[in-house]
Amino acid sequence: MSNRIKRYFLPEDQIPTQWYNIQADMVNKPLPPLNPATREPLKPEDLYPIFAKELVHQELNQTDAWIDIPEEVRELYKNYRSTPLVRAYGLEKALGTPAHIYFKNESVSPVGSHKLNSALAQAYYCKKEGITNITTETGAGQWGAALSYAAKAFGLELAVYMVKVSYEQKPYRRSIMQTFGAQVTASPSMSTKAGRKILTDHPNYQGSLGTAISEAIELATTVPNCKYTLGSVLNHVALHQTVIGLEAEKQMALAGEYPDVVVACFGGGSNFGGLCFPFMRHTIKEGRKTRYVAAEPASCPKLTRGKFLYDFGDEAGYTPLLPMFTLGHNFAPAHIHAGGLRYHGAGVIVSQLLKDGLMEAVDIDQLDSFAAGCLFAQTEGIIPAPESSHAIAATIREANRCKETGEEKVILFNLSGHGLIDMASYDKYLSGDLQNYTLSDEQIAENLKDLK
Ligand SMILES: *Cc1c(COP(=O)(O)O)cnc(C)c1O
Repeated sequence: MSNRIKRYFLPEDQIPTQWYNIQADMVNKPLPPLNPATREPLKPEDLYPIFAKELVHQELNQTDAWIDIPEEVRELYKNYRSTPLVRAYGLEKALGTPAHIYFKNESVSPVGSHKLNSALAQAYYCKKEGITNITTETGAGQWGAALSYAAKAFGLELAVYMVKVSYEQKPYRRSIMQTFGAQVTASPSMSTKAGRKILTDHPNYQGSLGTAISEAIELATTVPNCKYTLGSVLNHVALHQTVIGLEAEKQMALAGEYPDVVVACFGGGSNFGGLCFPFMRHTIKEGRKTRYVAAEPASCPKLTRGKFLYDFGDEAGYTPLLPMFTLGHNFAPAHIHAGGLRYHGAGVIVSQLLKDGLMEAVDIDQLDSFAAGCLFAQTEGIIPAPESSHAIAATIREANRCKETGEEKVILFNLSGHGLIDMASYDKYLSGDLQNYTLSDEQIAENLKDLK
């Protein structure tokens, strides 16, 4: 007992030198994004005004399985990578399960979540292409925080549009961004045409991600040398996140184990893809029987109850049409406290994989997620992000099933972030002020009726 190993690390020279692009190995490739006006497949040039060119190429790359991590990005990864792979002995004991539970701890990044893995890469490519300014939107503030640090690391100016209600309710994430030197504007704002229009029509509008996206894209397309960046959903974001799974694969080998079940929470799919895709390559190529479980909130169930359709990536309909599992781009999820999971659609790679039966999805109620988060905190000593608690709840379900059957399964989940800046939501949970949200089939059908 006393000699058992709790945490596994990799030496610096074992930090991955390449990201894994699962598109190259997929039997059924993702369908192309479409131009909404013509419904023709998008050409890379169509996206150049918005994103750095290299990111567009990564987005559409269906041939190269391995993509080099630039040395400058790898150097910054070394500030916090490898992240620990941890055996959750405390949680196992509390559950009385024969399962072996491991988690990859992405909460140790300087900004507290996995998002930095892609922020550093995106800032690097922008800098390399001579871009001086970047923009983005942020809801709960995790992506904005990560990008603020990444922009500073590469000497870029960053303008963040933060949904007004979060700007006011989550002042600490805003101050984190400002500490790193970003300019943070509450959205809707008077600084863009899109913002002015909404404020003129609805002076008290509290903002939404859709509006913030519109403002950020408008700035990127009207200011010279300025590009837009996104922290989830897109293929290149999941690509950068595969550093998580590639490390985990080596660390599991150090532990002498291989996962039977891999679990991650699901907003747009980047931390899920980041952990799962490197393992999934063995399922696709060698037929390895591993299960991949995405844990989404019951109040925003695009994978378990949405439809596979072409839909817009944003509320306002500015983005290309993407083939994805969606609840409809005008779906307004309930205000659950896992802000990072309140997104109407799923990335196109993950959507294709779900359609092809390579992965599965479960939905988790808000109260179950917080109960799981508290048990994890009490047994492992880390307060998880409300998003990550969805993965923990799904892991607990799997582990309890093992208890019934006596199976000694190996379960690996991603701890995508810590919850230390989300204590207001824990407060609400502990004082009994949180609730579950249910959605009727009629509500879901109503939102999807205009899509084809
Ligand atoms: C943003 C975020 C998520 C959800 O995004 P994905 O792209 O689905 O990974 C999950 N956990 C944390 C901590 C986040 O910040």
